[in-house]
Amino acid sequence: MRSKGLLRFLIVFVIILFGLAGFVGYKAGVFDDLFPDLFTRETQIVDLSESDSSNSGEADLPSPSQSDERSDLGRSNEFLAKSGVGLSLTAQQADFLPPGEVIRKWPSVNGVTEDVTGGAPKLSDFKSQANDPKPLTGAVIFLDCGHGGIDAGTVYPVYAPHEVLEKDINIEIGKRLKPMLEEMGATVIMTRDTDDFISIYYRSAMVGEYFINEAKKNVLATDPNANVSALNSYQKHFDRIYELNQDSGGGDILGGVGQSRQTRMLYDIENQFEHAIYLSLHCNFNEYYSDVGGMQVYYLDNGTLYDSVSEDVSYDMVADPLQRVYPIYQGYDDAGRQRLAELIYKETVAVVPALEVREARPILTGDYAFLRCTGIDSVLVEMGFLSNSSDRTILSAPDGQEEVARGIANGVYAYYCTGDTDDEASGEDSEAETVVEDDAG
Ligand SMILES: [Zn+2]
Repeated sequence: MRSKGLLRFLIVFVIILFGLAGFVGYKAGVFDDLFPDLFTRETQIVDLSESDSSNSGEADLPSPSQSDERSDLGRSNEFLAKSGVGLSLTAQQADFLPPGEVIRKWPSVNGVTEDVTGGAPKLSDFKSQANDPKPLTGAVIFLDCGHGGIDAGTVYPVYAPHEVLEKDINIEIGKRLKPMLEEMGATVIMTRDTDDFISIYYRSAMVGEYFINEAKKNVLATDPNANVSALNSYQKHFDRIYELNQDSGGGDILGGVGQSRQTRMLYDIENQFEHAIYLSLHCNFNEYYSDVGGMQVYYLDNGTLYDSVSEDVSYDMVADPLQRVYPIYQGYDDAGRQRLAELIYKETVAVVPALEVREARPILTGDYAFLRCTGIDSVLVEMGFLSNSSDRTILSAPDGQEEVARGIANGVYAYYCTGDTDDEASGEDSEAETVVEDDAG
């Protein structure tokens, strides 16, 4: 009996000894080399700031070491001063965030400092044309009729057979609006004019492709030997987006959390072109209250994007602590976007008073992909509620469609050609209500 007790004591003693040695070894870092993955997860995340060029969205800019061949720009900050675009970039920061760090805002100043517009008209230039027969001469308007193909948008009634499909109304009104804007001298580019499915990223890529080509043309006009390799590098991303044509997962450099350096440069370049706007036409639906009606116009401002991404990140970080998060682009023209939204609402209800908003606010902010994924001023026009019988009658009748198109055209004219800032459009609520939603509408 006694030897059994001694054996038990020895076993317990040995277990304690090993436990103690293990603890001391861990504290001293003895196992770090043996099991690096076990003890260095945090270090891996922090190191991402130096390896951001391995990300797909960044892969096209030459790495600092590659650029050494052409110059002595060894360190990434200096390297970024000349990114191989032939464009100068202002202060840059590491792209990815270590865990626990507050989400970084990208500097609100325009990161691309070189003017790539080639003398394209500024917004203020249009005022002098206000009384011309073609006052919008020089304006470029991307007209985006929401949904299409298998994506009907919102429908009435909810259950088949549907009498009214949002995708049809959007294109009917878009087809009436296009000649009105052209009549005023604008160049109008429709993102779709057939009943086909075109993803939200596809639509934004069309804008990106247009302005990257403009920028390239303008840079080369100034200096035929300019290095435009980084501008050239966008095309394969646009092509990939066209090829995939998926609403989610088909975003390429336009998707993800925050905006990569390459994406921020794209938006900065687009943002320089003040003569261009993006109008997205949609119809609304309220499944609970059929008395809610009228037009609502959404825009995206910098604060709304920051709030929206912060929310995304807090979810994503819990799900995947290694999630890479880019800084948040903050270069949107808040005032211009808000003004465009307010003028379109004001001018449309002047033509169609029945579309004055009821039981809701007229001007809202929201993080919609097609507002986020372009640097030019853009708005989402919810022309009325298909769930409301008065709105539905206006939006589905040819006369009503003509009037809504005329109202929107008048709003676009006011945006370009008047100094109208329209403080009264949003009624007593001077601040637009923020609606944080993603990729809906
Ligand atoms: Zn819609």
